[in-house]
Amino acid sequence: MTTFNLRNVKLRPGEQFRDAVEVELEPLEVGGQRYVPVPERPEAVLTLSQTSSGLVLELELQTRIHGPCMRCLADASFDVDVRSREYQATSPGESDELTTPYIADSKLDLSAWAHDAVALALPDKILCREACAGLCPVCGKDLNREPHEHEGEASDPRWAALSELKDRL
Ligand SMILES: [Zn+2]
Ligand SMILES: [Zn+2]
Repeated sequence: MTTFNLRNVKLRPGEQFRDAVEVELEPLEVGGQRYVPVPERPEAVLTLSQTSSGLVLELELQTRIHGPCMRCLADASFDVDVRSREYQATSPGESDELTTPYIADSKLDLSAWAHDAVALALPDKILCREACAGLCPVCGKDLNREPHEHEGEASDPRWAALSELKDRL
């Protein structure tokens, strides 16, 4: 877990701090599958800007995510470009909106922040290619490698039951 101690940076209103930090990034879970960032410790740019009322925190990072295609389970990978912004008021009072969940005891949890920001940047469908044909619902073969149809069989409920059984085995 990568944290950043905010006590080490003393800023006056109007001042800015900017530094490159290696952030440890945990694999992401989507739909029961694991998606692994490469590199696992991407270099992020952290910018802290002090205003008269609080601290603006910005995080920028690029990484490549590797994991199974959601249709055919072949390897898929894609780049994510993350820019995230948080705000921590100096005197937040009662309002949660004026504080970031990633700061506790002046420690900024960069790993948790980066993880959530990358998760938000993931596409809805993670595919090996845009036109991935997926797996055959009848026999389970990869339709990208072996395009085929089962005449009549697909509509036969016995085959559907059999293929369901196969999926469970
Ligand atoms: Zn695919
Ligand atoms: Zn088939």
